[in-house]
Amino acid sequence: MTERILKFLRRRSEDGPCLVIDLEVVRDNYLAFAKTLPDTRVFYAVKANPAPEILKLLVELGSSFDAASIPEIEMVLAAGATPDRISYGNTIKKERDIARAYTLGVRLFAFDCEAEADKIARAAPGVKVFCRILCDGNGAEWPLSRKFGCAPEMAPRVLEHAHRLGLVAYGLSFHVGSQQNNVKAWDKALKSAAAVFKDLAERGINLSMVNLGGGFPARYLKDVPPVKVYGNAIFRALRKHFGNRIPETIIEPGRGLVGDAGMIEAEVVLISKKSDTDEMRWVYLDIGKFGGLAETMDEAIRYPIRTKKDQDELAPCVIAGPTCDSVDVLYEKTPYLLPVSLAIGDKVLIEATGAYTTTYSAVAFNGFPPLKSYVI
Ligand SMILES: *Cc1c(COP(=O)(O)O)cnc(C)c1O
Repeated sequence: MTERILKFLRRRSEDGPCLVIDLEVVRDNYLAFAKTLPDTRVFYAVKANPAPEILKLLVELGSSFDAASIPEIEMVLAAGATPDRISYGNTIKKERDIARAYTLGVRLFAFDCEAEADKIARAAPGVKVFCRILCDGNGAEWPLSRKFGCAPEMAPRVLEHAHRLGLVAYGLSFHVGSQQNNVKAWDKALKSAAAVFKDLAERGINLSMVNLGGGFPARYLKDVPPVKVYGNAIFRALRKHFGNRIPETIIEPGRGLVGDAGMIEAEVVLISKKSDTDEMRWVYLDIGKFGGLAETMDEAIRYPIRTKKDQDELAPCVIAGPTCDSVDVLYEKTPYLLPVSLAIGDKVLIEATGAYTTTYSAVAFNGFPPLKSYVI
């Protein structure tokens, strides 16, 4: 929660919910990663928040970028990055998009199967590729487990296939799951990675790089360990599994770089009860799942919500969004405590909403405009 954001909001007069990003927080977060893992290149996961001001700042600070589509690659280039600072990290790409990325100068690509290697070899001959391996996502609040990556036992075969096609079998990647609270989550993945390195070395192919993915948490309702604790745990795991032959490493933080740099201001549209005997208030905001708070799905991410009346008596309530869709309920299973004095028209502040909000907001579901964003 930054004073600069509150000051900005006091001066704002437009209607409707908005996200405000404080670039100073993004800068501090970036420098914390760079300091904690000095030998590791940072590839910002653009999907977390592609605001041009954020991309520009990160270009200036020396960051590289993990992009998942041609538009993301173009945004990063427009912000001033050279293509050697871009990784096309999506394992699911159209061949013509691979060709377009190659034309734009991108030379580092992710894949997780032979069919994708075939596409890359045809459309981007000779580039560096890294194979994503599956990771169980235990300990993460937003797991990314099944969709991307192949079993570690399969990785040597697909990397060897890429090598035979003339690609540079460059390394491995994994993602331990987003909002990963367990600092030891990297240990198991690095153990699998070391086994793949060894297997391929025996086939005469020497991998160079491990992409440690994202997963670094933002601070929501629960406290999380600082970046330094993650850095130390990762370094120990690298030593343990690779000895004194630690490979080149990269990280791809998204949430951990921008999550706590942003705050949403929203407004209470309605407060009501469902029956005369119902104790629970329903508080409807002018932002919901379709306005940018999609990560409240299954109540996975629990944002801190603050009001000006938090000193008053608090009582549990259900919090819901403004659209005519019944899934647009943010928190019901685990109700939130909000002030009894909260009234229609009051503003609420939803903290740590810098990541995965603007990019998730629908264009005009029910006519509501996409989440407005300011970068200060
Ligand atoms: C989304 C994503 C990230 C960022 O994950 P966070 O948990 O937000 O840090 C990193 N790498 C890849 C490949 C991703 O898809």
